[in-house]
Amino acid sequence: MVIVLFGAPGVGKGTQAEILAEKLGIAHMSTGAAFRSAIQAQTPVGILAQSFVSQGKLVPDDVVAKIVEEFLAKPEFAKGCILDGFPRTRAQAEELDRMLSASGRTIDHVVNINVDDETIITRLLQRGRQDDQEDVIRHRLEIYTNETAPLLDFYGKKGTLTSVHGVGSVDEVNERILAVLS
Ligand code: ADP
Repeated sequence: MVIVLFGAPGVGKGTQAEILAEKLGIAHMSTGAAFRSAIQAQTPVGILAQSFVSQGKLVPDDVVAKIVEEFLAKPEFAKGCILDGFPRTRAQAEELDRMLSASGRTIDHVVNINVDDETIITRLLQRGRQDDQEDVIRHRLEIYTNETAPLLDFYGKKGTLTSVHGVGSVDEVNERILAVLS
């Protein structure tokens, strides 16, 4: 099973991806977390990504594709996976389809988690990660609206998209997502 968790920064994709991976017994990948650890380790990808991540910009598609391809090739991803934070552009979505079809796979579910902007900003300011300052958060939300949200239409037309309400307890939101997957 291949699941894409979709939604703006701060809607809880990472939290839900971790719980779902545990419950469903499949691997998960957060491109944001992958970039943060690459930056920490100062790998070539990390060095390329760091200025984009710190400014809340999208890392270029070719760099993202490289990191995703590495993950998808790992044996633990063969059974299925949960993708968090990828794809974020039309080019990435098309690249993902190509990578999956190379191993005879397709996306089973795209789950869009909906949270209003003001709740997102409050949550992210509380989280306080390095890229969680208000101006950077607003920039990330703007990029989400302009470059990532149009994918809702792309996946809507493919018939794989379901939206869930992302305000509530972690457990409540998790139940809503599990209901979509069953
Ligand atoms: P958030 O969802 O709160 O923005 P993430 O951990 O998903 O946090 O992403 C952090 C940063 O990593 C993004 O602002 C961006 O710079 C980079 N990033 C993550 N995923 C992608 C992607 N698919 N394409 C381009 N950049 C990405």
